[in-house]
Parts: sequence; structure tokens; C-alpha cells
Amino acid sequence: MDLSTNIAFAALQFIYGAAIGSFYITTAERVLLYFYGKKRKEGTKPERLKKLFILPSHCPHCKTTVSSLHLIPILGFFFTKGKCKSCQNKLSWIYPVSELFFGLVVVIFFQMTGSMGFAIFFPFLLGHLMISIYTDANYFSLDYENLFFILGFGLVCNYFLSEELPGLTDLFVFLGFAGFYLTLYLVYRKGIGFGDVLFAPVFAFLCGHPWWMMFLNSSYLIATIVTILSRKKGESLRGKAIPMGVFFSIGLFFTYLSKILFFHLGIEGITIDESE
Ligand SMILES: [Zn+2]
Repeated sequence: MDLSTNIAFAALQFIYGAAIGSFYITTAERVLLYFYGKKRKEGTKPERLKKLFILPSHCPHCKTTVSSLHLIPILGFFFTKGKCKSCQNKLSWIYPVSELFFGLVVVIFFQMTGSMGFAIFFPFLLGHLMISIYTDANYFSLDYENLFFILGFGLVCNYFLSEELPGLTDLFVFLGFAGFYLTLYLVYRKGIGFGDVLFAPVFAFLCGHPWWMMFLNSSYLIATIVTILSRKKGESLRGKAIPMGVFFSIGLFFTYLSKILFFHLGIEGITIDESE
């Protein structure tokens, strides 16, 4: 492919990733609103579930439906100067930033893996991790419904990455984590939530052997750093509640990134491309 085709292809991938990012950031906020927040008692569960997907995007302050201009990933935010057109309230920068992040992830991960399948499905995995981050950071809660999506998209991504199905060692990783966290939960109930008992083994299973070590270490390292940096002056760290689901999700992302870097650099090595 020549350069201009490559650039056009990368631009399409970017728009694809940004659009999925835009969908999931909206979904994550609606999950908070309809299942945890003010509207959790409105209507039946299926009705609220329907609202999650069909409601047009609207301003969180005045409820006006946002213009189609605003729906353009990233650029929409700048076209509208980050403000709602009717009430002039500022909209969160989290929208353009997460769209940018999702777009870049698709482009970069495709470049590194060369797998179209992985590039197509990974943003969905990322989206569901983001929902976990949202619910755990705001309400210390992880939804097991969301865990099924994480497991499903994770397995599809893994297949495109290694072209192998999970093996017996991955199952042992799962059982090891499940046993460990269940024991921890039973012995020291205040220390962890039941969500962690369900999520950590599934995440470790997706990482596989020996990458679960990377997952475990990066999750707790990031959790420790963030907790220390974000504590208030004089506040004790003992007994401080930490939303581990947030850090497990970030740790899983870093493990995928490391895995891809490792295989990408390991297989390709430093070779000189002589095709040009
Ligand atoms: Zn508004």
C-alpha cells in the first residue's frame, strides 16, 4: 500500500475507535444514572436497559438533545467550544479525551499486531472495562453482567492475538486466583468486595500464564501510587477503601499493551525493512 492509502486507512481506524469510545463513555454515564443514580427507581429494569441504548445524547444540565455537530468524535467538542448550545454549560473534557484515547488505541494496536480482528474487537473490551471503572470509582460496585462482556470480548481479542484457544494453564490461573480471592474474602471480609472475587480471576484468566503476574503487580502498584498521591494531608492509609475494580481494569489494559509490545518486538526484532 502506498502512503496515502495507509494514512486514509489509519484515519478510518481512528474514527472507528473514537466512535466506539464515544458510545461507551455515554453508556458508562447512563449506567451510573439509570442503575445507581437518581433514576434507578424509574420504570422496570428492561425499560431502563432500553434507555441505555436508544436515548439520544443530551446535555446533562438542561436535557436538550445535543446537535449532530456535537456527535462528531473529538472535533464536535471543539466545534461547539465544549459548551451546550442552549444552556451554555461546559461539557466534560472526558468525552474528547476518551474518544482520542480509543481512536489512538485502535490505530496503534493495529500497527503493532497487524491483526484486523484484534483492532476491531479490542475497543469493545476497553469500553466494558471503562464501565467497570465508572461504577467502581463512583459506587464501589462492579456489575457481573458487565463481566460477561469483558470475558466474551477478551476471549475474542485473545484469539486474534495468539490464534490459540485458552488452555489448561489458563484454567489453573483462574482457579488459583478464585481460590486466593475467595479465601481472602472469607477471612478478611472488610478488605475486599465480592466484585473483586469475581473480577480478578476472570481478568487473570484473560491474561494467561505468565502474564497474570504482570496483571497482579501493575494493578496493585498503580493502586498504591494513586492512593498515596490522592490522599488528603494527614489521612491514614489504613482502612482506606480502594476501588480495586478500577485498578484491575487499568492493570488488564497495561498487560495487553505489554503482551503486544513483547510479541511485536520479540517476533519482528530489529529488522531492516528492505521493501521500500
Ligand atoms: Zn445544556
